[in-house]
Amino acid sequence: MIKMKDVYKTYSNGVTALNGISTDIEQGEFVYIVGPSGAGKSTFVKLMYREVKPTTGTIMINDRDMSSLKERKVPYLRREIGVIFQDFKLLPKLSVYENIAFALEVIEESPRNIKKRVMDVLELVGLKNKARFIPDELSGGEQQRVSIARAIVNHPKIVIADEPTGNLDPETSWGIMRVFEEINSRGTTIIMATHSKEIVNTIKKRVIAVEDGLIVRDEHRGEYGYEI
Ligand code: ADP
Ligand code: ADP
Repeated sequence: MIKMKDVYKTYSNGVTALNGISTDIEQGEFVYIVGPSGAGKSTFVKLMYREVKPTTGTIMINDRDMSSLKERKVPYLRREIGVIFQDFKLLPKLSVYENIAFALEVIEESPRNIKKRVMDVLELVGLKNKARFIPDELSGGEQQRVSIARAIVNHPKIVIADEPTGNLDPETSWGIMRVFEEINSRGTTIIMATHSKEIVNTIKKRVIAVEDGLIVRDEHRGEYGYEI
């Protein structure tokens, strides 16, 4: 479902972040992207939701060529791909409910459907009782659960998470991982860039290691492989 072939990315300041990446990821896989800081992990995942365009090379997602995807089609892509960030990126003045409903309102769901879908997804992430809270009233782990709920409320086929536990303590991080495993068990592809040796070595999944913009390792049930 995700096919990258000979992907290079050089930013406008001349920094080359990716140096010829080719890989295939199938529907339903759970993939960790690991590697040192500056290795190109973020750039790699940003290509998949078209936050970044490749300089050369092709990226196919569900048989759609990302390099030739028209700008006006990008919002449609974003409905098929849920994205989760290290810093949550919630709207601070909106309630938990509104933060999630927002993702549905932009695609013109009926109010009744919106309510059902928001409450269902809040139940999945264990936050049904906090629907009226605003982000500041929640812990970091709870805020990340809201951002996961927002990312999956459209039932995307792919969820991309860039360091989703980077701002969370270990205890909270395991809770977030359980949510990801649950989503993955329902058939959603998960791609997670991470620096957590503990998580990668405990919850064994496919590991793609990136160094200096190249894939240096790709293992089924792999290890983290770095000291920190
Ligand atoms: P491009 O137009 O090449 O896709 P962006 O629009 O993503 O590049 O970035 C615009 C500018 O922002 C870059 O030229 C760079 O100077 C700066 N920038 C943003 N993020 C970073 C970063 N992580 N490291 C260095 N420069 C950055
Ligand atoms: P990682 O996620 O592994 O830390 P990144 O993909 O963020 O790696 O960065 C790879 C390289 O590209 C770094 O040298 C970084 O400074 C550079 N870079 C990232 N984003 C930009 C940008 N928007 N503009 C210019 N350089 C960037």
